[in-house]
Amino acid sequence: MSVNQQAHTGPPYGQPQPGYQGYQQPAYGGQPLPGVPQSQYGAYNGPMPGYQQPVPPQGYFPSLGFPSKGSPVSLNSDTSSLAPNFIGSLRAPPTSGAPPPASGASLPSGHLPYSQFGHGDVQNGIPASTAPMQRPPASQPFLPGSAPTPVSQTSTFQQYGHPPASVQQLSNHMAGMTIGSTTASAPPPAGLGYGPPTSVPPVSGSFSATGSGLYTPYTASQGPPPTSVSQGLPLAQPPYPGQPISTQRLPTQVPGFAPPPSSAGIGPSSYPPTTGAPRPPTMPGPPLPGQTVAGPPVSQPNHVSSPPPPSTMSGPHPGPPMSGLHGPPPPPTHPPQPGYQMQQNGSFGQVRGPQPNYGGAYPGTPNYGSQPGPPPPPKRLDPDSIPSPIQVIEDDRSNRGSEPFVTGVRGQVPPLVTTNFLVKDQGNASPRYIRCTSYNIPCTSDMAKQSQVPLAAVIKPLATLPPEETLPYLVDHGESGPVRCNRCKAYMCPFMQFIEGGRRFQCCFCSCVTEVPPHYFQHLDHTGKRVDFYDRPELSLGSYEFLATVDYCKNNKFPSPPAFIFMIDVSYNAMKSGLVRLICEELKSLLDYLPREGNMEESAIRVGFVTYNKVLHFYNVKSSLAQPQMMVVSDVADMFVPLLDGFLVNVNESRTVIASLLDQIPEMFADTRETETVFAPVIQAGLEALKAAECAGKLFIFHTSLPVAEAPGKLKNRDDKKLINTDKEKTLFQPQTSFYNNLAKDCVAQGCCVDLFLFPNQYLDVATLGVVTYQTGGSIYKYAYFQLETDQDRFLNDLRRDVQKEVGFDAVMRVRTSTGIRATDFFGAFYMSNTTDVEMAGLDCDKTITVEFKHDDKLSEDSGALLQCALLYTSCAGQRRLRIHNLSLNCCTQLADLYRNCETDTLINYLAKYAYRGVLSSPVKTVRDALINQCAQILACYRKNCASPSSAGQLILPECMKLLPVYLNCVLKSDVLQPGPEVTTDDRAYIRQLVTSMDVAETNVFFYPRLLPLTKADVDSDSLPAAIRNSEERLSKGDIYLLENGLNIFVWVGVNVQQGLIQNLFGVSSFSQISNALSTLPVLENPFSKKVRSIVDMLQVQRSRYMKLIIVKQEDKLEMLFKHFLVEDKSLSGGASYVDFLCHMHKEIRQLLS
Ligand SMILES: [Zn+2]
Repeated sequence: MSVNQQAHTGPPYGQPQPGYQGYQQPAYGGQPLPGVPQSQYGAYNGPMPGYQQPVPPQGYFPSLGFPSKGSPVSLNSDTSSLAPNFIGSLRAPPTSGAPPPASGASLPSGHLPYSQFGHGDVQNGIPASTAPMQRPPASQPFLPGSAPTPVSQTSTFQQYGHPPASVQQLSNHMAGMTIGSTTASAPPPAGLGYGPPTSVPPVSGSFSATGSGLYTPYTASQGPPPTSVSQGLPLAQPPYPGQPISTQRLPTQVPGFAPPPSSAGIGPSSYPPTTGAPRPPTMPGPPLPGQTVAGPPVSQPNHVSSPPPPSTMSGPHPGPPMSGLHGPPPPPTHPPQPGYQMQQNGSFGQVRGPQPNYGGAYPGTPNYGSQPGPPPPPKRLDPDSIPSPIQVIEDDRSNRGSEPFVTGVRGQVPPLVTTNFLVKDQGNASPRYIRCTSYNIPCTSDMAKQSQVPLAAVIKPLATLPPEETLPYLVDHGESGPVRCNRCKAYMCPFMQFIEGGRRFQCCFCSCVTEVPPHYFQHLDHTGKRVDFYDRPELSLGSYEFLATVDYCKNNKFPSPPAFIFMIDVSYNAMKSGLVRLICEELKSLLDYLPREGNMEESAIRVGFVTYNKVLHFYNVKSSLAQPQMMVVSDVADMFVPLLDGFLVNVNESRTVIASLLDQIPEMFADTRETETVFAPVIQAGLEALKAAECAGKLFIFHTSLPVAEAPGKLKNRDDKKLINTDKEKTLFQPQTSFYNNLAKDCVAQGCCVDLFLFPNQYLDVATLGVVTYQTGGSIYKYAYFQLETDQDRFLNDLRRDVQKEVGFDAVMRVRTSTGIRATDFFGAFYMSNTTDVEMAGLDCDKTITVEFKHDDKLSEDSGALLQCALLYTSCAGQRRLRIHNLSLNCCTQLADLYRNCETDTLINYLAKYAYRGVLSSPVKTVRDALINQCAQILACYRKNCASPSSAGQLILPECMKLLPVYLNCVLKSDVLQPGPEVTTDDRAYIRQLVTSMDVAETNVFFYPRLLPLTKADVDSDSLPAAIRNSEERLSKGDIYLLENGLNIFVWVGVNVQQGLIQNLFGVSSFSQISNALSTLPVLENPFSKKVRSIVDMLQVQRSRYMKLIIVKQEDKLEMLFKHFLVEDKSLSGGASYVDFLCHMHKEIRQLLS
């Protein structure tokens, strides 16, 4: 891609998260707080499983009037407000950070001993045989020397690596898609074009009426299964399982289209692994019946964003007139789009005339539920015949969801992020920590360039694991610290090779030989493996932690526990909306849930409080005070912290004073008329406070407006939508001053992470305000037009999660690679002061860093390629640690092997980040064109080198990448790259930053939202209704649907929905009475209401951010917003439909090939 890159941009945020398992949430829920308006807490049942509210009644107290500037003022105190024993036994599962037990401590009884591997014939390095390992349930400090008795196990999972030639090898080489080709007369020879010819059986040139599949008899020696058999796209035949073969193979010759390729037999039987291509066939071994990956589907991420509130939507809404939606919608005529001229070539058939079977925009009659599946009319590319994301997701779930993913074999492609699966670490990091664009990388740089497939890893170092999986062990090597390679400093890992009887080891990254320190010496067994191999996590596991020594600490001094500083905007807007009171009430209880380590009774984190408008107010909440004291700093030009002692305190010790302060803040500023705010001085104040306390920490800033008050970092309103589609559009994404970049640098140096909660009623320049947040690894949350009634649940849930989540401070990450490749580029929320180290003032469990690799030498198929990600960080209790993740990949000399082992979801994650960074320096159109071009090259290279020769009229996609066009189109149509009229500049900047730290599951659902037919839900089961494709054609007027993308949940109600259903779900008697101002579904006692609410709750728990719920009635104004997410359709902002885009890609590919 030729997009210019900017040195480094790191938007912050937002990882979705497999579950919320990191912490057990205390019940925060039930009891109303006497004295507190019930409405504020009523909704405490969000995604958090119980969040107990142990707080005794409290009320507020009359304010004491405004303290005068400069001198300490005693504030009203309410000593009765908080009960002392807040911190119950709520906190849960020890994190890996459990302080190591006294030396020699043995594992607690009941826990399995560490070494679970059979002592087999495995050499150092990843065991080839993958015995199922069971590890102690929770993370435990791993003490060398306490080596528990090994439990030998049979290697049940032996075959996992190289799947036997079986089911999955069936190639579903589908007929090619012939798009408007005039040369289609000659049916292409069928065949799998990739890989060694030996792997491809002779292809019969004729159709097999019975649908017998093409076999690709793979043998283990052939390496990974040829999963990526090219998949052609028959123009009009739905190639999906379940479809009778006859239909698929029917040579219906559509005028203008080539006959379906005669080649691939696509029998039902040959279809199984539609998606599963490169994935190993089913694993032997017990199929974990009913295996529930506890917790939310591992995969999906989540984000909260905020579309304008419904109320505002009803106002002047830009965009096409909504009237078109009323009455019988006009037939979707899809006029040719600008930029897609090539499609006007009549032979494409994508100009869709009125469609007989889809009477209009909606499938005609209220045919409950049934998805429209009428035969495609002629001259139209049938959407059912092109690769379906839903089908791919379903196939992967059924093929790979029932078996654990065992990481013992190099280069295995993990299940999709949308599949629930358990991971067993047997030497490579779990895909929850690292996912790659390809698990088999080209041996040479030339090959890599030829394919244009980016080589990248999406890394989430502190990812939350489901409870069934074991957190990384903490290894303590004492004063000498972790054992490392002398030359490249790589950490001891399963791939290091011990030699000379165990006295030395050869580095798997740089080949340098290093002496084994005496304390670490161990004998080798007859196979050359250390006898303590299975007793040491760093020799046998893909992920583990080391306790860092003082050498790994700043200034050679062990860190102090971090601090949290809450900084609240108390200007007029914040006061008026009730926000300040809401925050203060929430903090009273939330402070008892600060992150704590392992079995510690209370959090080590200290807290401090600041309020501000044009000036800053610091509070002394020292436990010995009867009343909190306020210190006002009005000279914001040179920020300093007016008090040291008493600013950062232990919550338990200062409980009464803090409670008193939180009661008084809303009263003190209740009558404020100050509308102006400062911003940079607020961050500076937090930074200075942390410096003074000599600790790292996090600032939680609650801010409402553009900081126009006279002060450093003052901003002006420079929003200008006229810049869209001009060369200056990039300035909308750039900060308006470099002041914040410099501030960010200082913050990173101190380990001061900034989380930003924004409540704008107008433009506040997220692109600039967010700079410090994303460069420090922080998170931004945005609640536009915040209204207490509709938005408080979402905000409070986000706040609770943000405060409680696992976070590491003062973090530095480095990715080492074996000789031949190296990390060359990084994407995410961080700062870099050199070319190798990713620095983050804070890194939480949701944040992802994407690393791109380039060749600097040849790789070999024998040795493969290795990655080691080392994250040095300070835990929430102040312990300095190293978290290590290792991953081994295969290397190939055949392009087909590359294409067979790619992961499209990860590729899209990378491409989106690459493009979103590109808009900072290049015109958006350039970025879009570059994306299209790169993907066309990727697919053309496959076609040229891996697919069997066939008519140029056929579009042949690699099995593993058959969704690349549809997903790429979603990225191209996203708000950042192609904004609709309703999207604000701040929204775009916000989304741009969010996506940059998303993990693969989050980008997956963000770009291709999940659409569920609620009326099809089985009220008696826990399961979700089967998802459907994101197209209006799939919606029935008689049904209700839910769409989620990680930031929003839409509930769409068709105009013909039965009255009974409306009554059951909304409690009103007719469609017209449904209010689209609802932000939650009413709680009604009937099975349908319960089922729908449970689905919503389930989705909320899966996401890292609380999604905004929006009710959309068909043909209502808000429907336009909803339709924006029907990503397979043409968008109002000009984005192509999936069908059109596929045709366009095909044309691009043909041009490259000719
Ligand atoms: Zn080395």
